[in-house]
Amino acid sequence: MAMTIRLYNTLTRSKDAFRPIDPDNVRMYVCGPTVYDDAHIGNARPVIVFDLLFRLLRATYGEARVTYARNITDLDDKINKRAHERGITIRQLTEETTARFHRAIDALGALRPTVEPRATDHIEEMKALCERLVAAGHAYVAEGHVLFSVPSMPDYGKLSKRPLDDMIAGARVDVAPYKRSEMDFVLWKPSREAHEPGWPSPCGIVEPGRPGWHIECSAMSWKHLGEVFDIHGGGIDLVFPHHENEVAQTTCAFGHQVMANVWMHNGFLQVEGDKMSKSLGNFVTIQELLDGWQGQAWPGEVLRLTMLKGHYRQPIDWTVKAMEESWKTLEGWYRTIGGIAPGPVPAPVLDALSDDLNTAKAIAELHALDKAGDAPGLAAALRLMGFDPARAGELAGATALDAVDTAKVETLVAARLAARKAKDFALSDRLRDELAALGIQLKDGKDKATGEPITTWEVTR
Ligand code: AMP
Ligand code: ZN
Repeated sequence: MAMTIRLYNTLTRSKDAFRPIDPDNVRMYVCGPTVYDDAHIGNARPVIVFDLLFRLLRATYGEARVTYARNITDLDDKINKRAHERGITIRQLTEETTARFHRAIDALGALRPTVEPRATDHIEEMKALCERLVAAGHAYVAEGHVLFSVPSMPDYGKLSKRPLDDMIAGARVDVAPYKRSEMDFVLWKPSREAHEPGWPSPCGIVEPGRPGWHIECSAMSWKHLGEVFDIHGGGIDLVFPHHENEVAQTTCAFGHQVMANVWMHNGFLQVEGDKMSKSLGNFVTIQELLDGWQGQAWPGEVLRLTMLKGHYRQPIDWTVKAMEESWKTLEGWYRTIGGIAPGPVPAPVLDALSDDLNTAKAIAELHALDKAGDAPGLAAALRLMGFDPARAGELAGATALDAVDTAKVETLVAARLAARKAKDFALSDRLRDELAALGIQLKDGKDKATGEPITTWEVTR
């Protein structure tokens, strides 16, 4: 019998032994990206964390016995707005952004999920859910909207366990006169602007409309995983209201106690203590890191290891230093492995991962295997965690690539030249030292044609 996996469950607030509903088909749903813009490295955290869980489940129950659904949210008001601003169709924007998302996360070593449903392909299921909820007295129609009636569900709030006052305050952000209760939320809304996509509405509504965000995930998980499934995941910011509302919709539509048995949430990736987010503007995209950031192109595996060093429920601070350390670590491990074929995965690594994805402990075990010179064990453990030791060459090759932030160097060189022309030699010397610290050597001369002073530079490191 397979080894027991223990998972921390947001629903029970405890770490429990995982028992799949059907061990021949273990089912997991994770909320995917809203495709209006490139994913930042914070968005990569749930991708990597749940990819690791997917791999662990496959290793435990069998590759063909795990169904992982991660959706593409290609229907959202942010998308409408962005497509409108860029003067392209919604479809062009979502297809382009989805392709870029795939390219970025492939480089992080994330397996594609078993199914990747798109919201726009599930309008019928969303409408069917609206109809069911209205018929069951859990939703009502008002001014072209279908709204979920929160007071119709006595145990609303059981996932986030928020005090009622908090939830009311949260809901107040979006008060509307047609709501019967201030906490009621939108399942379907009218599309009245020219740039808003619309479909024939459910529940006898005459004007065309479109779904709210929460109903999208209830529809897609129902279609691909059923009325009740095993694991539902996402970032901690999704617990309320998104996941709470998914639970409300799905359980009230089908009459079950739960939507998913286990709810898992990753902590935030932060920059100097703040959540990395588009709205704060403190973000770097996955693709920017891969292409070159802070003078360095960062291989996907380096990003992956950096992400897995901390426990997934804890916040992590994203720093260049952490990426540099991961790079050195991986180089060391790949050197130990050489061309040796993987053996069985060592039990201590499997134990650590099976204990609520304790990656910090698993990585400590990898260091121990390295120290002991257990190359086949190290290779197997790394492969289970989504690393590919066969790509050691790429890692080494990338070191030299883009090692210098050219734009920054050019700016400093130009500033120094300007200082020299202005005879500000103190400033000019300071800039020369700053460049030297970056490994840049300067050569001053004169332009042959014009006689103007010029400076050329080269990398000496
Ligand atoms: P979004 O495209 O904003 O809906 O986010 C996609 C996924 O990324 C969701 O699961 C979010 O919870 C997650 N996410 C967004 N920002 C961060 C962050 N800074 N750290 C960790 N996860 C995040
Ligand atoms: Zn969702």
